[in-house]
Amino acid sequence: MSTSNGQTYDVIIVGGGPSGAAAALYADRRGLSTLLLDKDSFPRDKICGDALSGKSVTILEELELLDQVSELPGAFIQSVVFGSPTHTQVNIDFKRNIVENTPSGFVIRREIFDNFLFQEAKKVAATTVENFLVKDVIRENGRLVGVSGKNTETGESLDYRGKIILGCDGFNSLVARKTGLYEHDPEHWVVALRQYYKGVKGLTDQIELHYIDEVLPGYFWIFPLEDGYANVGIGMLHKYIKDRNVDLKEAMEHAKESEAFQERFTDAEPMEDPTGWNLPVGSKHRKIYGNGFMLLGDAASLIDPFTGEGIGNALYSAKYAIEVADEAIEAGDFSEEFIAQYDQRLWAEVGDELQVSYKLQKLGKIRPLLNFVINKAARSDEVSNIIAGMLANEVPRKKLANPVFYFKLLFS
Ligand SMILES: Cc1cc2nc3c(=O)[nH]c(=O)nc-3n(C[C@H](O)[C@H](O)[C@H](O)COP(=O)(O)OP(=O)(O)OC[C@H]3O[C@@H](n4cnc5c(N)ncnc54)[C@H](O)[C@@H]3O)c2cc1C
Repeated sequence: MSTSNGQTYDVIIVGGGPSGAAAALYADRRGLSTLLLDKDSFPRDKICGDALSGKSVTILEELELLDQVSELPGAFIQSVVFGSPTHTQVNIDFKRNIVENTPSGFVIRREIFDNFLFQEAKKVAATTVENFLVKDVIRENGRLVGVSGKNTETGESLDYRGKIILGCDGFNSLVARKTGLYEHDPEHWVVALRQYYKGVKGLTDQIELHYIDEVLPGYFWIFPLEDGYANVGIGMLHKYIKDRNVDLKEAMEHAKESEAFQERFTDAEPMEDPTGWNLPVGSKHRKIYGNGFMLLGDAASLIDPFTGEGIGNALYSAKYAIEVADEAIEAGDFSEEFIAQYDQRLWAEVGDELQVSYKLQKLGKIRPLLNFVINKAARSDEVSNIIAGMLANEVPRKKLANPVFYFKLLFS
């Protein structure tokens, strides 16, 4: 038997990862009362590459948290290396230095980064409940008006009421499932493994994405961390894992033992067994809203299909969701038609870039073409500058949407 705490919050946030925590922080700026719920207690781990680049840095700066994030244990990042299947490498500098001498990006373990953001959110949320597993949504007249679930520590079942419900609950989103919006499409879904290491040679201030044959159009990554540690992993489109019957653990072992990487792993020591996780990618524009609710971050499939970066778009989704939540509350209109503005604003921000990345991912399936593009970028300042601009969010959206732009770029 569930009981209610008798309060109606402006916003109920299901999930305290980057999208949920950022939503609480943006809501506070607009004076909205929030209930922040997570099934785990923080700090908690999250399988990830742990890299925070362009977009994440922009939002952290907007939330005035960049200085504090710079102080967290981790590595500063100034560039990204793309390696082709034939091991040609192009090194792309992140162009954007917000303040002189500040890094353009970070690699920070999610156990640390998420906990930092969650604790900041907890300071401003009206109520935060950890160890609360949301099990269902509450509907009235076709609109979501709350959630129900169980405190896994006390065993108590509770209902909570809110004007707007935000599903920030990751790839397996309960809110998406209960509203009929959950989709697991293997063509738009990546599976990846992470394994922390100590002692990998050749770590610098770069993150490395190597598009190796075993997992094309996916990649093998090596990201530096603090004190000589590294985040190493491999990821591939779910459809190809199934079609080609790939064992990702074997593919990762093979990559480390291959001629190109063997020397760097000779003295390296794994800190854990490889662990897998899911990445719903934004190559398909899914429905992510309805009467009284919105889906954010991984629940809305916003991960970049080429680079696997999802934290930046998760943070952006929080910004636009709260903007629209505030306006809906002000207008007293919680209808799907009103809330559709969330989808429009978010896709105006991230849509073109996701489509470009989808094109790059498709191109990555054709080995000679991927070799050609990476070789071209390695030889041409113009091409590498443009990729840098894309990564730093500086290439105008209209340009990204125009095929002539790519043609000129690659064949000039
Ligand atoms: C292997 C791998 C590597 C990646 N590398 C990178 C990278 O280097 N850089 C990058 O930017 N992105 C990367 N990503 C993507 C990134 O991890 C996600 O995009 C990001 O975590 C999305 O944040 P989120 O807040 O939407 O969801 P999550 O971080 O998944 O948070 C969801 C939260 O909801 C809670 N929750 C779930 N269900 C419930 C429930 N029923 N009730 C209550 N709480 C619930 C969970 O406990 C969790 O805390 C990677 C992903 C993977 C799998």
